[in-house]
Amino acid sequence: MINVTKTFLPDLEEYIKTIKRAWDKAWITNNGELVQELESKLREYLGVKHLLYTSNGTIVLQMALKAYNITKEVITTPFSYVATTNAIIWEGCKPVFVDINSRNFCIDAAKIEAAITEDTQAILATHVYGYPCDIEKIESIAAKYNLKVIYDGAHAFGCRYMGKSLLSYGDISTCSFHATKLFHTVEGGCIITHDDVVANRLMLYRQFGHINDDYYTVGLNAKNSEFHAAMGLCVLPHIHEIIQARKDIVEFYDKKLACLKLQRPSEHGELLYNYSYYPVAFDSEETLIRTRKALEAEQINTRRYFYPSLNNLNYLSYQPAPVSEDLSKRVLCLPLFFDLSQDQADRIASIILRAQNK
Ligand SMILES: *Cc1c(COP(=O)(O)O)cnc(C)c1O
Repeated sequence: MINVTKTFLPDLEEYIKTIKRAWDKAWITNNGELVQELESKLREYLGVKHLLYTSNGTIVLQMALKAYNITKEVITTPFSYVATTNAIIWEGCKPVFVDINSRNFCIDAAKIEAAITEDTQAILATHVYGYPCDIEKIESIAAKYNLKVIYDGAHAFGCRYMGKSLLSYGDISTCSFHATKLFHTVEGGCIITHDDVVANRLMLYRQFGHINDDYYTVGLNAKNSEFHAAMGLCVLPHIHEIIQARKDIVEFYDKKLACLKLQRPSEHGELLYNYSYYPVAFDSEETLIRTRKALEAEQINTRRYFYPSLNNLNYLSYQPAPVSEDLSKRVLCLPLFFDLSQDQADRIASIILRAQNK
């Protein structure tokens, strides 16, 4: 069987050697040595001032909204993982969906202004598959209407845009280090900001709102453990080879599938991409289902990522987003991971090619 993703695991001896540092001290959580070391290495790798390592990439979206006291309307994208929308609702805010553009499948910045009301407080947008949102345009709209910009950068680790990490933009950027993501710590995530005051607030939120006997604010538990940080410390040194291996597979798919002229999100000239996903949009949902079945028959798993379009969630009142609704019915992510062999990629592409001619 070939799965759509496969987790990169470091050498087991290396992991044991790393975890032994925490084991020997019997200090396995609560801002331990390995968590601190991972944070400082991530800050250095990403070139950012403040980065907090957390338990996952969902709680950081909630912390971001809380840090700016966002309680009303949040402009967001309907084409993302459900966690993006859920965080907004969970924090008691209203998601206002602005449709996506068909060029890179991110929020269509040209449509944001029309969705702004007196209650709009923030824009929460996703760099889908690691492709950057229209950062310049979003920044200027945010400045004009005094809105906070939060980027869900769950897919953006390793992407560089205009010479900087894609995770360094916005008032706050978040990332997920879940086992299915490009860089992972089993479970995990992080939150990034340039603002010293906000960084301090986020630090407190992560640990129940207090430091020792001093209680400053309401908080929650978003800490992560030494076992998780140890995984991150063992995976991070391999990040360049992980990205390079994925790039080779992506280029192979591109070549093999070129004749189908499948719709794909396009790269921005200023982007150094991380090759985190390989989405293709077929001409119709019918073609997608037929192709997916053909792959399943050969034990190859794909993922309808993202489906459904989040404006169609049954616990929300409907807001139209025709581009996202159409794309989400036609998009399929193909298997892409570190050690997917060229033979396997060749087999996958051949099955897809055959399924189109029916
Ligand atoms: C994976 C993902 C999340 C959630 O991250 P977790 O670490 O699984 O909580 C949020 N947003 C997007 C776009 C994601 O892909």
